[in-house]
Amino acid sequence: MAESYRNFHRRSIEDREGFWREQAALIEWERPFERVLDYDRPPFARWFVGGRTNLCHNAVDRHLATRAAQPALIYVSTETGAERTYTYGELHAEVNRCAAMLQALGVGKGDRVLIYMPMIPEAVFAMLATVRLGAVHSVVFGGFASHSLAARIDDARPAVMITADAGMRMGKVIAYKPLVDEALRLAQQPPKNVVIFDRGLDKSMARVAGRDVDYAELRARHMDAQVPVTWLESNEPSYILYTSGTTGRPKGVQRDTGGHAVSLIASMKHIYCGEPGETYFATSDIGWVVGHSYIVYAPLLRGMASVMYEGVPVRPDAGIWWKLVEQYKVAVMFSAPTAIRVLKKHDPAYLKKYDLSSLKHLFLAGEPLDEPTARWIADALERPVIDHYWQTETGWSILASYPGVERTPLKFASPSFPAYGYDLRLLHETSGQEVGDEEKGVVAIVPPLPPGCLTTVWGDDDRFVQTYFTSFAGKQVYSTFDWGIRDRDGYYFILGRTDDVINVAGHRLGTREIEEAVCSHANVAEVAVVGVQDKLKGQVPLAFAVAKDPSGLTTPAARKAMEQEVFDIVDQHLGAIGRPAHVLFVTLLPKTRSGKVLRRSIQALAEGRDPGDLTTLDDPAAIEQIKSAIASVTT
Ligand code: AMP
Repeated sequence: MAESYRNFHRRSIEDREGFWREQAALIEWERPFERVLDYDRPPFARWFVGGRTNLCHNAVDRHLATRAAQPALIYVSTETGAERTYTYGELHAEVNRCAAMLQALGVGKGDRVLIYMPMIPEAVFAMLATVRLGAVHSVVFGGFASHSLAARIDDARPAVMITADAGMRMGKVIAYKPLVDEALRLAQQPPKNVVIFDRGLDKSMARVAGRDVDYAELRARHMDAQVPVTWLESNEPSYILYTSGTTGRPKGVQRDTGGHAVSLIASMKHIYCGEPGETYFATSDIGWVVGHSYIVYAPLLRGMASVMYEGVPVRPDAGIWWKLVEQYKVAVMFSAPTAIRVLKKHDPAYLKKYDLSSLKHLFLAGEPLDEPTARWIADALERPVIDHYWQTETGWSILASYPGVERTPLKFASPSFPAYGYDLRLLHETSGQEVGDEEKGVVAIVPPLPPGCLTTVWGDDDRFVQTYFTSFAGKQVYSTFDWGIRDRDGYYFILGRTDDVINVAGHRLGTREIEEAVCSHANVAEVAVVGVQDKLKGQVPLAFAVAKDPSGLTTPAARKAMEQEVFDIVDQHLGAIGRPAHVLFVTLLPKTRSGKVLRRSIQALAEGRDPGDLTTLDDPAAIEQIKSAIASVTT
């Protein structure tokens, strides 16, 4: 009889080493590891110590003997009309060419390569080529603007940067190159070379002689390249991915090599039930963790075909994703609740138009999945819709259902149970004591964190410990900064963040970062940005600003004009993704007597809830101003 989920999980905690030794056999090792786990320096966990492997070898080369002619990467762009399938053999050739190109530009083991690309296959070639060389990639989401990009360049200090002339969204060309040029101007230590893949979308693109290199020209010089993989010790880094927190400075989540590969291939087997030769379709972007894990690495490690889609879910019509499911016989799909809420506004007949018989289940993650959305898509698809919960930091699920182990019943709005390898607890916010069933607590993980999770913050071990392991006095446990609750059947529910991080359409944003951008407007003295509920996007940022000189803001037209200026600044600094829904002007912010802005009260008022305890409020007039500012946009 198959092992029960409960037993599987118990074994992963009680016999950690035995359990992960078994999972480690799913990948190829050039040299076997000596120890499964080194936890001599908590909370730093080192998995598969002494083992040597390579991600690119496992994702590409390993499959050549058995599936060189099978599809590996299926590229579809409804923006440009491009559609092309790369077999494992073709992917191998492209990755070798790209690795040779990077090598020619001086990239070697441990060097960083910053990838700022739209959803095009060359982005995947670049990621795989980087890890082939034992170098470290840092993909920056193409929607981020120059200041965000510059901050990431300065932290990662890449040897080379790879970009494209432009992206495209809803038929509109979005030039990348001017943002890149501006970011390189702002950066303290810009890379020597920028490789540009010219899609021919931005005809006016300017090049900087001596620095900018054309992808196609360089590729033409390396057509027959065969670049041997650089074997890495399991704990050497494979990538950095920046994520927002409560400070304005993004953290570089650092992933290792062996643990990363093992966790992802194991998740394909136990969670997603993706089999070699089948097709996987994650609708994310390579700039996010879901894109890293489930557009690129996990499907390829498992020998599957991965669909890479550039476009929106409703163009040319709301049936496009289901058309792709039929056409490419997608077995497993992964998306976000926001996307489903967008589809829900369209005719459900689109789902009946195509043959979806290949699809085993749909996984959703990134933000809370509301019950109406879950029911709508489950009814329309007639397939299990599995909510699962994870973070950039963990790289794979913390809570999920495990159909590859046992088909446990699903509950709407619950991402089910803790993933194997995670010793999950719900802890009281202040005492750090475990809470009981049906009681709200902070979702925490007793370390060591399992393979695949972040191993540190890039270049800052201290920040790793301080940020994640010091929330509870006297206890070194990892805080997810999410509230959770467990029902009497052991099902978990995620209730939202404990910090100032907000989630817009499944993308994490720190309110601090938005505040810093808003504050760079010459006439903004102070600002508080909070996340408020939004029917479509989950949450949207809302800004309350205090003007240095309010005398020019007496008319609605003047306030509108300044709001637009603030929007433009946020677009420039962070990208449109960080743009507040409104910028509302007040003359003071509600603060405690010690000067702390009462963000939770502002947020509560904006969502029509009780603002909570206001006894520490310095000036009650501030709250009245917030209330009337909110009323001005809601009535
Ligand atoms: P990110 O690192 O950008 O993927 O954001 C991770 C955060 O998204 C988590 O800390 C949660 O707040 C939220 N999140 C992710 N998945 C879920 C889910 N299934 N249900 C509720 N919240 C989620």
